[in-house]
Amino acid sequence: MSPTPKPGLLDISPYVGGRAAVPGVAKVFKLSSNESPLGPSASTLAALQEATSSLALYPEGSAAVLREAIGEVYKLDPARIVTSGDGSDALLTMLANAYLQPGDEVIFSQHAFLVYKIATLANSARPVVVPEKNSNTGLKVDVDAMLAAVTPKTRMLYIANPNNPTGSYLTRDEMAKLHAGLPRGVLLVIDAAYAEYVTAKDYESGIELAHKFDNVVMTRTFSKLYGLAGLRIGWMYGPAAICDAINRIRGPFNTALLQQLAGAAAVRDREHFWKAVEHNNKWLPWITAEIRKTGLRVDDSVANFVLIHFPKGEKSAANADAFLNKGGVILRSVASYDLPDCLRMTVGTEEQNRLAVKLLQEFMAA
Ligand SMILES: *Cc1c(COP(=O)(O)O)cnc(C)c1O
Repeated sequence: MSPTPKPGLLDISPYVGGRAAVPGVAKVFKLSSNESPLGPSASTLAALQEATSSLALYPEGSAAVLREAIGEVYKLDPARIVTSGDGSDALLTMLANAYLQPGDEVIFSQHAFLVYKIATLANSARPVVVPEKNSNTGLKVDVDAMLAAVTPKTRMLYIANPNNPTGSYLTRDEMAKLHAGLPRGVLLVIDAAYAEYVTAKDYESGIELAHKFDNVVMTRTFSKLYGLAGLRIGWMYGPAAICDAINRIRGPFNTALLQQLAGAAAVRDREHFWKAVEHNNKWLPWITAEIRKTGLRVDDSVANFVLIHFPKGEKSAANADAFLNKGGVILRSVASYDLPDCLRMTVGTEEQNRLAVKLLQEFMAA
């Protein structure tokens, strides 16, 4: 008999990222993967250049240079930070690898990031998917329903805050309530990939909870606001015991020198950081308002993307997608997030935003 993967593994649908090209259309704007329209800072590129002189050498294995830079900027103990050279995706996966046993239950919400399900099934654990609340301003994680789904088999709960692709967030109090309702032995993983974009005063990214409690971990990424999706740097902050567990199973050199130096430069460049925040603060409300004028439902978002709802029939999400593609704009189909009638649009450059909105107006008026 040929080798068989672990039970559950073949139930995984491989992750498919946002499309990058349209056949037959030469110039396309990719607004499908929540990348930064500003790209990385000049200081990050300079650090990358400098790092090329050391490519022959193994990097320092604990990524101390990067952990110290993150610790300095975010005012965190570097000993409680673990970095990853394969994005925060890899940390989300390693947490599952470290804590899940076959048959364990993992709770996440209906429109949650697809990596949670993949990591769960890869460990022969059972995904428990909880419906979200739906109102005309958006879809939102239902804290009470999440807590009601907890059983003695629950081992982990993943929550993206803010959530992708809905753009909604849980307030500090809502997240605290969720945590307070969990048994101590359940690990709460807060995926804060878009935390840097959030300006709402009642938001807390998970640092406070992860600081205080031994069952909370927060993950972050350089892929979004820092404009480094191609470099694949992620990090997590958590209790010492959880960092210790992850440090035992991660690759011994899992964060390359290029990544350590570029990440350290990126996180220290606060000027570039605020430029990216300001760009988003300007264009996110504009996109939201302009698309709403066409009659489409656009959900409130605190991240760098919006979720657009389409009716069935002629003005469907699939038809809009095709129309925009022909005009040179790629949005993200989110059917695999259980949102077949929606498209997600990333905040782009001014030129990209204006073209996408214009095409949506033409599509709706046609
Ligand atoms: C983009 C994203 C991430 C980050 O992925 P990386 O592997 O760090 O690039 C994590 N969680 C969510 C919800 C995301 O949208």
